[in-house]
Amino acid sequence: MNERHNIPERSPADRRKDFFEVTSGFDKQTAMAEAFRCLGCKNAPCMQGCPVSVHIPEMMAAVKKGDFAGAAKIVKATNFLPSVCGRVCPQEVQCESKCVRGIKGSAVSIGAVERFVGDYDLDNAKTAEKPEKIGKRAAIVGSGPAGLTCAATLLNAGFDVDIYESLHRAGGVLVYGIPEFRLPKELVGKEIDNVIALGANVKTNEVVGKTVFIDELCSSYDAVFIGSGAGLPMFMNIPGESLNGVLSANEYLTRINLMGAYKENCITPVQRGKNVIVVGAGNVAMDAARSAVRMGAESVTVVYRRGREEMPARKEEIRHAEEEGVKFRLLANPVRFTGDENGNLVAVECIEMQLGEPDASGRRRPEPKPGSEFTINADMAIIALGTSPNPLISRSCPDLKTGRRGTLETDENLKTSLENVYAGGDAVTGAATVILAMGAGKKAAESIISKLSGEQ
Ligand code: FAD
Ligand code: SF4
Repeated sequence: MNERHNIPERSPADRRKDFFEVTSGFDKQTAMAEAFRCLGCKNAPCMQGCPVSVHIPEMMAAVKKGDFAGAAKIVKATNFLPSVCGRVCPQEVQCESKCVRGIKGSAVSIGAVERFVGDYDLDNAKTAEKPEKIGKRAAIVGSGPAGLTCAATLLNAGFDVDIYESLHRAGGVLVYGIPEFRLPKELVGKEIDNVIALGANVKTNEVVGKTVFIDELCSSYDAVFIGSGAGLPMFMNIPGESLNGVLSANEYLTRINLMGAYKENCITPVQRGKNVIVVGAGNVAMDAARSAVRMGAESVTVVYRRGREEMPARKEEIRHAEEEGVKFRLLANPVRFTGDENGNLVAVECIEMQLGEPDASGRRRPEPKPGSEFTINADMAIIALGTSPNPLISRSCPDLKTGRRGTLETDENLKTSLENVYAGGDAVTGAATVILAMGAGKKAAESIISKLSGEQ
């Protein structure tokens, strides 16, 4: 009863050949056995570590009894996407980091139990009843976790909701960014269908700021929520960045995940690099590197200017990448991409780095070591250095105030500088996490509900 049950994983040799999911979930017996490890703490410190305060002890108590439908109801009271969150939330620094069981042993596998409950619900739940309408209309910009959560909360409160999505498919980063082997798209589709079943009207191929404008939405709806994410990739601005074979992780992953470039006969292919360099060490970099392995690369090397301790990716993702054969060249940074006479990338010139004094972020500043230049042969370089919000919406609506790096400014209720226009998720915080985006979507919806009912 004291041993933590970990989620089963496919062997590295097996999983590096395809895009099928790396982990498989708990079965009923394992989920119940793990739930029995929960002490049902009265003050529930685990809940304090959860950005949307899932009622974890109550969920565990229901799973212990084998009441999985009851457990799903408890989770879904605060989290509309439990199957997604059970897979991609960084539980080790959230709920599980606060679990009392972790003080003298290992924390309860909260994420794995949540994933089991979410998957059980997707397989067994009946179609949700459509809530009664209250005669208010809301427009949601973007169908990522922030937009979907805001939509679901407003729908449950009786609003009519239209979602405007620029791509041809709803889901945001859940469908175009996070790879199939970590988050199967069929499952994301089912969770989105559950939100749509509440009555959402999803308008795809609608680019707000191009095909429809914020002021038009303001005049047609009682409230607007902007959850347009942070999809604009950053580049290094070094020589050779426009060579064939140098691309952003955004483009690489979107072609693979959304457009299915890993499948045969795909109409939107992507180059299959032989020797691939990935620049950066966050979750996006790990996803790009692990995708390149599966796309048949002979070598994949992550180049990162800081050390192992400073790598921002989840430890589990780094371990998975290493097991799958990804190499790490730490304390190094590209200074130039070099190409052949046809403009194709052939090598990446790098320089070794050393860590100096802490910078504004508190992390030690990487500095180049003079005379330590070296070259890595590569026909593909994927840049994964972070993203910022696309300025399309703010440029087309000058009254919408923005802050550093183009993020939308909001007050404590997530209201923007415009009346009845709210915003949340990566569009406000810059690139963050699924659960923080969901928390923001929920909070904005609650602000809209209380504002329109005259409470605020
Ligand atoms: P998004 O998910 O970006 O959704 C925004 C939506 O708005 C998109 O569908 C976009 O097409 C649409 N849109 C943009 N502009 C417009 C417009 N003008 N008009 C209409 N629609 C528009 N987080 C985790 O918690 N765990 C992870 O393991 C993890 N891995 C990640 C891996 C990758 C590769 C990436 C890129 C991110 C990862 N994240 C992870 C971060 C997480 O996915 C994001 O923080 C989260 O999706 C943000 O949600 P959002 O709703 O704010 O924005
Ligand atoms: Fe259960 Fe851990 Fe939460 Fe306590 S802190 S209620 S043991 S999950």
